Amino acid sequence: MKSQFGEKVYRIALNGGMTCPNRDGKIGYGGCIFCSGMGSGDFAGSACKTITEQLAEGKAILARKRPVHAYIAYFQAFTSTYAPP
Ligand code: SF4
Repeated sequence: MKSQFGEKVYRIALNGGMTCPNRDGKIGYGGCIFCSGMGSGDFAGSACKTITEQLAEGKAILARKRPVHAYIAYFQAFTSTYAPP
């Protein structure tokens, strides 16, 4: 990413409110051993907020820490491909 964009690109972790087939019973229950109860999205935004709100919040948090010019949206919590597009 750095070579592509000329600077570090930061990830904004989003929570789309998805679940996971390894948790909801379609395949299993309990989830993967390395996955937290938050679907490894402990540092992602809140699913109660819209994606737009989570992006704005993530950008503001990053801006308080360091000058950031590039970031990508990243659906972190649970299984992003397990929801309608
Ligand atoms: S969200 Fe991903 S890592 Fe977590 S239990 Fe489901 S499949 Fe495993």
